[in-house]
Amino acid sequence: PEESKEENTTPAPPPFNDGVGPTYQHANATFVTLARNEDIWSLVKSIRNVEDRFNHKYHYDWVFLNDDDFDEDFKEITTSLVSGTTKYGKIPKEHWGFPEWIDKEKAAKTRQEMAEKKIIYGDSVSYRHMCRFESGFFYRQPLLLDYKYYWRVEPDIILHCDIDYDVFKFMEEKEYDYGFTLSLYEYGETIATLWDSVRKFIKAHPDYLAKDNLMDWLSDDEGYSYNRCHFWSNFEIGNLDFWRGKEYSEFFDFLDQEGGFFYERWGDAPVHSIGAGLFLPKAKVHYFDDIGYWHVPFSNCPTNREDRTRLKCSCNPRENFAWKGYSCTPKFYNVMGMERPSEWRTQS
Ligand code: GDP
Ligand code: MN
Repeated sequence: PEESKEENTTPAPPPFNDGVGPTYQHANATFVTLARNEDIWSLVKSIRNVEDRFNHKYHYDWVFLNDDDFDEDFKEITTSLVSGTTKYGKIPKEHWGFPEWIDKEKAAKTRQEMAEKKIIYGDSVSYRHMCRFESGFFYRQPLLLDYKYYWRVEPDIILHCDIDYDVFKFMEEKEYDYGFTLSLYEYGETIATLWDSVRKFIKAHPDYLAKDNLMDWLSDDEGYSYNRCHFWSNFEIGNLDFWRGKEYSEFFDFLDQEGGFFYERWGDAPVHSIGAGLFLPKAKVHYFDDIGYWHVPFSNCPTNREDRTRLKCSCNPRENFAWKGYSCTPKFYNVMGMERPSEWRTQS
């Protein structure tokens, strides 16, 4: 009886969804998705997840990018699902294609060799354009210039849990520039000479390195070699101004000249991770333990039961990748000097 009395005196919720009213001060932020028209049915699932778990309360915008024209179907369906404003951009040819200094025959030869070795996407030209675009051009697209924060969403992802706060405002208030959910080791063959190039760049610009950076997360021998740890970039919540800044832009331009996006198969995940890891102080990088996320084949599931219950998670904590052997997140905790969530041992 006590309890029901209390219930009766609880004030009615505000008229707008979950307390976010018309006077709510949003962060300057957007979702961003790179996709093809044929990705639509994989993408609608991602959008429903993001809306149901988060954006139905906040109505942030969503920018869609494509190297081709989006068709009417794609625009109509995505607009119907997103609770914020949707925008559609076509990527210019200079940002999606072979730059003139690339020897196309040499590039074709690597693709052939990688195909024989059965390296994932090893023989794909479009995958390489995609990785180069995500590494150095997404944040320069006119539609993104108006925004400061972004959340990258790919087709076919799942959000396992509610997100009960505004993650963009959180980034702003905590002054974080890069947020991730999954980290792991890259396939060595796709980035054989990436670290050689990184070292050349560091040698030319030692002053670009941030003080208290994440070098010890990227390297187990103080920068001599790369341990292949990277943040999985299919999920990113970050500050676009960091990518647009001098250090990272020049870093990307240098890597682009080196040719490894085509002569090897450098991924945007290691490139972003090395950039963020070296040019940001480590305190600007945040691990979202509380965001339940799946992209084939790995899940991030909040480590502690209390979070999983409060956030209505649908993930199996035993499948939480964070503490498994191939995850780089334990190393992230070590380098950050952070205490691990109490239940981590049950999930390793
Ligand atoms: P994976 O996650 O590494 O297996 O790669 P995906 O196939 O998921 O591609 C990564 C992202 O780039 C996804 O958002 C795709 O929709 C997008 N993408 C990949 N290739 C292309 C392409 O050729 N054109 C466009 N417009 N988007 C692409
Ligand atoms: Mn993907």
